[in-house]
Amino acid sequence: MHLQLAEIFYSIQGEGTWAGTPAVFVRLAGCNLGCDFCDTDYALKTVASVDEVVARVRAEGGDCPMVILTGGEPLAQAATLALIPALQADGRRVHIESNGTIFTELPDDIWLCVSPKERVDPRMARRANEAKLIVDGRVPEEHLPLFEHQPTVLLQPEGNKPSNVALAVAYAKRHPKRFKISLQTHKYMGVR
Ligand code: SF4
Repeated sequence: MHLQLAEIFYSIQGEGTWAGTPAVFVRLAGCNLGCDFCDTDYALKTVASVDEVVARVRAEGGDCPMVILTGGEPLAQAATLALIPALQADGRRVHIESNGTIFTELPDDIWLCVSPKERVDPRMARRANEAKLIVDGRVPEEHLPLFEHQPTVLLQPEGNKPSNVALAVAYAKRHPKRFKISLQTHKYMGVR
C-alpha cells in the first residue's frame, strides 16, 4: 500500500493538549475540503510505501515516541489505516489531526484531534480525544452540540491574529469551565 505525501519532518507539536512535545509530522497530501483560510501546503510531493514512511519517520525523528498524521486530511487515504499499526510496531504513539468529515474506525489508543470546518461527522466528533475550534472572526458555535461529551474544547485563534486572539480569550473567559485557548506556539518558536 502506498501513501501520497506532502512532507515528513521532525519538530515540536505547537498546538493543543500536547503543545511543546517533540513529534514527527507525517503530512499526507490532499484534502476533501477547501477552506478559505487554509494555509497548509498539502500538495502531493512524493509517494511512498508504508514501510518507507516508517523508515523515514525513524530517519527524521530517531526514537521520538510521538508521530502526528496530519494533512490535508489524513483519513482521506485508505493506506493511513495500514500505516498506523506499522508505526505502532516501530514503537510510536500515533496522533491524528483530522477535519472529522470522513468516518473511520480507529483503535482506542490513537489520539484523535478533530478540528471541524464546514461540517463534521457526529461519529468522529464523539470519537475525538480533543476538539479544536478555529476562531476566525467568530467562534463557530454551531459545532458545539456535537462536542458536548468533551469536558474541554480548545479555541484556536486563526493565524495567531490579535483580533482572533482577543475574541477567543473573551469567549473562554465568559465560559471558563468549558474552553481553553490553543495558540500556534510553533510560530512563536520559529519552528515548522
Ligand atoms: S480541512 Fe484543513 S487542510 Fe483541509 S482545506 Fe480545510 S484547513 Fe486546509
